[in-house]
Amino acid sequence: MKDTLKHQGLRQKLVEVIKNKGITDPKVIEAIGRIPRHLFMDSGFLDHAYQDKAFPIAADQTISQPYTVAFQTELLQVKPGHKILEIGTGSGYQTAVLCVMGAKVYSIERQHELYKKTSQFLPKIGYRPKKLVFGDGYIGMESEAPFDSIIVTAGAPFVPKPLLSQLKIGGRLVIPVGDDVQVMTLFVRKGPKDFEQHEYGEFRFVPLLEDKN
Ligand code: SAH
Repeated sequence: MKDTLKHQGLRQKLVEVIKNKGITDPKVIEAIGRIPRHLFMDSGFLDHAYQDKAFPIAADQTISQPYTVAFQTELLQVKPGHKILEIGTGSGYQTAVLCVMGAKVYSIERQHELYKKTSQFLPKIGYRPKKLVFGDGYIGMESEAPFDSIIVTAGAPFVPKPLLSQLKIGGRLVIPVGDDVQVMTLFVRKGPKDFEQHEYGEFRFVPLLEDKN
């Protein structure tokens, strides 16, 4: 598992691309610049690792586009020590970004194959989330709540109530909401029953699947 000068060079170009698209948080930019994204993809796709595009991983899922990862992460306003819940571990790339930023990361994945693969892979390359769980993101992780922030990395047809209720006061939920196309939505918890809502334009994700699917 190598990270060569060529990979590093391509990665710096990717960093310039996401900056040009409007990402400004220096810690997000640093994380994207440091993480060897090519190691999160099957070897056949190595050439594509540093293009700003989503790509297929196992179990018909995708590793999100770097710009989208950066955009969602920026909205979380991550501080070192923050307790963060991720829904949709997938390849673990987003998980790694949060780990590098000093967060305590909890993540849920519903595809067993991906859960297994990523649980083994992340520590192997030096990323140590607090907890990876095989389960259903619609119910969140009550046993570890409340969280400073929650990030959903699949398109949600609606906003699952448990995710709102597992936020600290002042906490942030970043979730793409919609069926075919999703609107990036931020909820900030102002009080026990008081949420501020902001919308940030359209994105496309694989669907957040309910258990029956
Ligand atoms: N964060 C990932 C993105 C993966 S795509 C990355 O950086 O690679 C979205 C992921 O959400 C997929 O792995 C998919 O299996 C998972 N997912 C879909 N529905 C889910 C659910 N109900 N609970 C948990 N994970 C789910």
